[in-house]
Amino acid sequence: MVHTAHKAGDEQTSQDALIPSKENRDIRIEGYVAKGHTPMMAQYHALKDEHEGCLLFYRMGDFYELFYDDAIQASETLDITLTKRGKSQGDDIAMCGVPFHSCEPYLAKLIRAGFKVAICEQTETPDEAKKRAKAEGKSASKALVNREAVRIITQGTLTEDNLLEAKRNNYLCSISLFQNNFGVSWLDLSAGSLMVQTCTMDALRTTVERIDPSEIIIANDIFDTHKPFLESFADRISVQDDYVFDMGNASERLINSQKNLRAEDLSELTETEIVSCSALIDYVLRTQKGKIPYIAAPQKIHDGTVMDIDAATRKNLEITKTLSGERKGSLLDTIDRTITGAGARLLQSFLSAPLANVAGINDRLDKIECYVEQKELRDILRDYLRSIPDMARALSRLTLDRGGPKDLAVIRDGLSLSEIIRAELQYNTAAKTVFDGILKFLHQSPDVAALQDRLKQALEETPPTLARDGGFVREGYSAKLDDLRKLRNNSRTHIASLQSKYQEETQINGLKIKYNNVLGYFIEVTSKHADALMVGKGNDDEKVSRFVHRQTMANAVRFTTPELAELERDILSAAEKITAIENSIFDELVTQTIRSCEKIGHIAHAIAQIDVFAALATLAEDYNYTRPKIDNSLSFNIVDGRHPVVESFLRKDSEKFVPNDCCLDPAQKLWLITGPNMAGKSTFLRQNALIAIMAQCGSFVPAKSATIGVIDKCFSRVGASDDLARGQSTFMVEMVETASILNQSTDRSLVILDEIGRGTATYDGLSIAWACVEYLHNVNKCRSLFATHYHELTSLEKKLNTLSCHTVQVKEWKGDIIFMHKVIDGSADRSYGIHVAQLAGIPSQVIGRAETILEELQNSKSNHTPPALDLPLFSMNDTSQKPIEQTSALEEKINEISPDELSPREALDLVYQLKSLIDT
Ligand code: ATP
Repeated sequence: MVHTAHKAGDEQTSQDALIPSKENRDIRIEGYVAKGHTPMMAQYHALKDEHEGCLLFYRMGDFYELFYDDAIQASETLDITLTKRGKSQGDDIAMCGVPFHSCEPYLAKLIRAGFKVAICEQTETPDEAKKRAKAEGKSASKALVNREAVRIITQGTLTEDNLLEAKRNNYLCSISLFQNNFGVSWLDLSAGSLMVQTCTMDALRTTVERIDPSEIIIANDIFDTHKPFLESFADRISVQDDYVFDMGNASERLINSQKNLRAEDLSELTETEIVSCSALIDYVLRTQKGKIPYIAAPQKIHDGTVMDIDAATRKNLEITKTLSGERKGSLLDTIDRTITGAGARLLQSFLSAPLANVAGINDRLDKIECYVEQKELRDILRDYLRSIPDMARALSRLTLDRGGPKDLAVIRDGLSLSEIIRAELQYNTAAKTVFDGILKFLHQSPDVAALQDRLKQALEETPPTLARDGGFVREGYSAKLDDLRKLRNNSRTHIASLQSKYQEETQINGLKIKYNNVLGYFIEVTSKHADALMVGKGNDDEKVSRFVHRQTMANAVRFTTPELAELERDILSAAEKITAIENSIFDELVTQTIRSCEKIGHIAHAIAQIDVFAALATLAEDYNYTRPKIDNSLSFNIVDGRHPVVESFLRKDSEKFVPNDCCLDPAQKLWLITGPNMAGKSTFLRQNALIAIMAQCGSFVPAKSATIGVIDKCFSRVGASDDLARGQSTFMVEMVETASILNQSTDRSLVILDEIGRGTATYDGLSIAWACVEYLHNVNKCRSLFATHYHELTSLEKKLNTLSCHTVQVKEWKGDIIFMHKVIDGSADRSYGIHVAQLAGIPSQVIGRAETILEELQNSKSNHTPPALDLPLFSMNDTSQKPIEQTSALEEKINEISPDELSPREALDLVYQLKSLIDT
């Protein structure tokens, strides 16, 4: 579903969209009333007009109500009852609602289903509405409570912990276009990180796939003209009016949006990048109704600084998700030893964008190595990390005015733990130098230290999530608050003693003083005791006449007394004052926190880094990984490499992974790997790509040693998949992916290709595979691993000087084959496919028949001259190379003939049929 923020041609400006004018809305409300709607429904319609494309959650008392089509769609998605609320112009108004106090699970479901939700709150109480109406000279009795949309919730702008995954970044992405260059920026609103880069049209898809945003904003016209490039993201795109991406004053708008942003922070950015960032911030302002969280200065990703990995490769290598889309079983899942949510998110972004510069990679490796060597320090730090809360997300909620006392406590606890972590690092001589950069960010400035002290003094140990729940300010922080609390608590004691007094005086033991929102405090007795308290029923003495009847229920009667009423006034006024004081303390603490938000953001990021490096060191130790040597050469020399995921699975079953070497040095850049099914070819191919990706992330790798000259792009074409939804067959997908590899890889790239050409007829496939090997060798000149069952390709070793043949060892023993999983020099002469089919449980009849057919095919093939190796394959027209299947068909037809049973006419027909079999 593609969402449109406003109707095309709408004359709205960005400022209008931000703050819809009250006058305009009032005019629209009157218009709807004139059309016969009730004032409330007229207000609903006016608000709905302002939020086209969103479901409108319209606050009524303790519920958010939805009407008309919104109600129908929401009730279907949420599986809740659809009711109706009166009629509108003769038709029933469909309605459904969700409770205000527990709306998050409903919101989560709607957002996941692709909806946007505008939250529309009452912004005044009914009393205030009446007063306002009076002041405006209108009838107070018909005063309509004012409502405003306070926020638009979209997938890319979520901030609530319950709606977000702790371990995954939730990116909102913006794409602008200027002079054939796309400005791509992305922001995690819940963590305040903003990144930006420029890319060409060819790289657009790969870039967006790498970011994997939850929502993408793009101008109407650019989406229309670039649909083919963006089609695969269609369900995440929110199309915007073109003015949102206006060049005019984009940098000004960007700088004005953030106090911490300075013009020099944008000096590195191109115009397209600035426009992209500015549109992103504009969208945040619109959805957050003018509020903006703390966002760090945009961080530019320079061209060539990250390894390019396209979507197919990411998918095939199962880097962050498995083929079925789950985190479990992916490389990320296998290597993730982080403790904090922020650390897990940072590790994911490391894995999604491995670096392509030696210095950056070595800087990360140095930190991991330091932690490997300083195990004691690492263990201490990881212990502290276990208690550290998610400061970045709490900070984002507080700056968006959506936080509560619990978020302040997160900042308090996070700051004090990060101070301890800083001290531990600081006093470790080895770590001090390596972590110098991180330590600078951890250092608390005086304002942060003061904030931390204040939060400690002010907040209870475990305060509530919401300020409205109260009770979060520590005793001793405010003398005034303490006095009022004493008064309130004493009043409670007074109520209890008043109840005992009345029980004694009236001799009614069941008399209770209770409280509800409608009556306030009241005295309740059962009906059978009620008469004893009723004035005029023979009980007119002084004690009874104090009781004033308030309400008769089925089984009980309620009273009050002047004494109780006075006590109630005291209690309520104390409670009101307590709430007011607590709220103002909360506001002050939030303001002070926001003042230091940039520094807190840096501390949170530094802690996430410490977590990631310590986690990668722990992984290296647990799994015996080594530090790779990264340089600017073109080598790729892995000794005893292992597949990280397969190894961890085998480990669970106490099985051993067989390590293998891989050396793609300039002298043998292309390895052609043949070998039986199930031997371990795909595993070998993948493990080398994964080792390269891990190494360039800055991680240690599963190998005895690894030397890797920085790889600019990594490509993998493994296995068969189709994309029927996009109209692409299995073979088409295979060819599209192969095309992109041949068109884009350079001599710095790493390419792994598995079974190219398997999706078509044997000779077509062989020809394509053959030509691809030649092209990779002669034109791309990249480091490549090419696995195939076309054993014919091994003859290329004689022709292509940097191609070498390798195979995976198997042993035959008593008619069985044993997979050794060892990659050795040489080539295979058979695939043992039938043997694997037997292992898989194919019926023995089929296996027997397959063996016979294989024998026949091999015999008939041996009667033909094999294709001349140097003959260009695409011009083969030698009839001696007719496909084997056709020869067999001819033989089969002849075998079917019973000459004695044929009539002359049938015999003639048969001659024609046989001839046609030869001709085809
Ligand atoms: P096919 O040609 O049928 O696709 P293949 O040669 O690509 O097969 P893989 O899929 O790589 O074989 O491996 C088959 C199985 O063998 C893997 O699932 C894994 O369990 C095991 N295996 C592969 N390599 C190793 C290894 N080096 N050590 C231990 N087990 C391995």
